[in-house]
Amino acid sequence: MDKLLEVTDLTKRYAQGSVLARIVLTAADHVTFYIKPAEIFTLAGESGCGKTTTAKVVLGFEEATSGTILHNGKPQGRKEKVWVTEGVQAIFQDPFSTFNPLRTVDSYFHETVQNYRLAGSKKEAIERIDQKLRLVGLSYAEFAGKYPNEFSGGQLQRISIARALVTDPKLIIADEPVSMVDASLRMSIVNLFKKLRDDLGVSILYITHDLATAYYVGDRIAIMFRGNIVEMGTVEQVLMNPRHPYSKLLRDSIPQADPTRRWTTTVSLAELEQEEYLRRGCRFAGRCPDAMEICRGVVPADLDVDGVLVKCHLYADGHSVHDPS
Ligand code: SF4
Repeated sequence: MDKLLEVTDLTKRYAQGSVLARIVLTAADHVTFYIKPAEIFTLAGESGCGKTTTAKVVLGFEEATSGTILHNGKPQGRKEKVWVTEGVQAIFQDPFSTFNPLRTVDSYFHETVQNYRLAGSKKEAIERIDQKLRLVGLSYAEFAGKYPNEFSGGQLQRISIARALVTDPKLIIADEPVSMVDASLRMSIVNLFKKLRDDLGVSILYITHDLATAYYVGDRIAIMFRGNIVEMGTVEQVLMNPRHPYSKLLRDSIPQADPTRRWTTTVSLAELEQEEYLRRGCRFAGRCPDAMEICRGVVPADLDVDGVLVKCHLYADGHSVHDPS
């Protein structure tokens, strides 16, 4: 099977606190997944679950503590940004922070065309840029010479996507791309991702806390909790019939898979985060309604439950260890 991106045992640790009271948090803990061509793969979970850390390491913005990342089979080393040469682009949460308010947005596009030597003349560059803008419902004429503040958040996020498309990427890493966009425009961005997958064969690593859009847009999904992938399978398998108690908690916090709704949880999370990251055994044990004695001391294995990866002691009997390949 072709794998555009293959992440194996990715671990990222951070030291926190003073010299005298230093603690080490494992923000990504042996994270393993892959993305196939023309696939939307979602990494989902609450804020502080490790999904953005994973994306930053995959993009080479931060170094992994251990583990391997292959872009098109080529390893991302400490120095070389393999993802750049292998045609990966990134889209971030806040489109306003993506663009300098004192620069026209078209200057970013021309810079990208120039850096990647994608056109032999200015006319050719404009044609290429216009073609990408039209994919997101805009045109060169309506955007040339304008500054970021002349666009709405939704338009600017579309412009970010068009900019990512200028290099004809095979994989786009989109970190919370709709969380700062109005509910009325969220669907249009999400539909755009589906169109890019279906019409252009682009794969997307979609990082979100919003299960409703994840269900609507995704092919496969991994649910993360405190640095671990706790459940992974197709969106149907994981969101329609969650097995892991944490996935159930998340799923039950959205009454229906409606992409125009924001997903929120009623659980107060901030104060729990550090405690859960440091917990021995299963990190969800403090909140899990099904917790057993073993959960407080032994880390659960990644089990194969009807083809779905589930990291939970509840399934220890009769299920083999999940094969990541
Ligand atoms: Fe709950 Fe135990 Fe499963 Fe963790 S391993 S989710 S505490 S039942």
